[in-house]
Amino acid sequence: MFRAAAPPVAHRPEHGKGAQVAHHPTRASAPGAYPFRLNMYSVPPVQDITVDDFESWALDRLRVLAEIETASARNQPWSEIKAAIERRSNEYLVLRSNAVAQSGAVATAAAKAKELQRERAKDHVSHFVLRLAFSRTEELRRRFVHAETALFRYRLETEHLAEREAFLRAQDFVWRAVPPEEQRRHREQLLAVHPRLATTFDSESFLQVPWHRVPDLVERRRVLVLRGTAWIPTKEQSSLILAEFHARLQAQLESTARALPRLDEDDRLLPVLEHLSMGSMVGATNDYTNAALVGVDGESVHITADMVAPLVRQHAPLCMRHLHETLSTSHHLRHYGRLQYNLFLKELGLPVEEALLFWRRMFSTMTDDKFNKEHRYNIRHGYGLEGRRLNYPAKSCARIITQDPPGPQDTHGCPFRHFSPQNLSTALSTYYHVAPDEQAEILQAAKAGHYHVACTRLFEITHAKQGVARGDGLGQGESVAHPNRYMEASWRLAQQPAEAAPQAMDER
Ligand code: SF4
Repeated sequence: MFRAAAPPVAHRPEHGKGAQVAHHPTRASAPGAYPFRLNMYSVPPVQDITVDDFESWALDRLRVLAEIETASARNQPWSEIKAAIERRSNEYLVLRSNAVAQSGAVATAAAKAKELQRERAKDHVSHFVLRLAFSRTEELRRRFVHAETALFRYRLETEHLAEREAFLRAQDFVWRAVPPEEQRRHREQLLAVHPRLATTFDSESFLQVPWHRVPDLVERRRVLVLRGTAWIPTKEQSSLILAEFHARLQAQLESTARALPRLDEDDRLLPVLEHLSMGSMVGATNDYTNAALVGVDGESVHITADMVAPLVRQHAPLCMRHLHETLSTSHHLRHYGRLQYNLFLKELGLPVEEALLFWRRMFSTMTDDKFNKEHRYNIRHGYGLEGRRLNYPAKSCARIITQDPPGPQDTHGCPFRHFSPQNLSTALSTYYHVAPDEQAEILQAAKAGHYHVACTRLFEITHAKQGVARGDGLGQGESVAHPNRYMEASWRLAQQPAEAAPQAMDER
């Protein structure tokens, strides 16, 4: 068991009311410890959790945050980001409000309450685990705060009004309502800043907040500042709450970063945290295990050695295409390249006998003896037929990008991560005939560290003829997270009858 409230994250709440034990959503682990769905994460969790939950809960949250980061990197509007958060949250981080849970089908009130508490505990603990993982560098902190604030915004906007009000009342926010008589006294000054409120002024209300809490509004002259306080229309309360959430989280992450060295001796946690923070760069981190190609008749396609080259050239992502072309021309691949490509082909549905035939043909400059001695075993090993007979999954983008980085002679890895801009540009032109103006966007995303966004854009560009538009990704906005998923999505598009394909956006 691991006690989640490790000393390095033991932040004190910023404001006095952090000590409000009775209503604080994060204070205890007994039933009712989380009266609200929303959480400002001012206090770390104190309940015991297993090391397995420690990592798996954090991975689930990471999948939601990765989706937010991807959608933001692709400049999707808030409505689409919201839809993406909803999709991922329903899958990995369900967090229901009291009202929804009460109307649900769960049998008894006690069971309902228990389920809600577990959802909220998962939300709470996973937030703090990722805080530890993401406090290490300024870049990671920035990305974490951005994604967490978006997640909080989504929850705030979708919360039931009464519960949202109750949550806000229980917080120690530093604003107060402006009394109506004071508001009337400053009518002219307020209307000078908010002329749009002229007709509704009497029904409006305002909040007072120390001006330094809303520097952006002050800078843009969007608020009246009087005696050190900014007066903000209550309608803009959401911006205030989000600004508060953002500022607190940023400060708490910095304090966690200062305390991190104290974790160095904990060899159970460090690898987990390292793994989690690496995953942030590359979207969802799940392995993909259902990738065999399916034909129009609904049956799995029987793939033979002869089919590999045409299939890969038509449907594979850049990492696998590059491995295949290197293998075709040099009749050789170094260890990690063979490993990456062999598992990819296995996942695709290439039977082991066909795999042996395929590799034997590709290693055409090698003697039978050498092939049998040096490669037959490893190919079969990848299929779980030798050694410990484990069913090794094909590598996900997260693994390809973060593990076993390629050396100068290697060809494995992710081209968006491991190629120089020039080599990446050449590969895009040579393998996919991507025009220079379209390349610019892909190169930009790769340069910014959004490798899966770059790969997703490549998919969209190269499948425009099948009606794939910007933002569609692999389907319904899904980003690339696994080479086999990329291949499967491309294959599926090719299977749809011509008349079913939407009008091409771009006749390439
Ligand atoms: Fe391959 Fe994933 Fe990189 Fe695309 S993002 S090239 S699928 S590793």
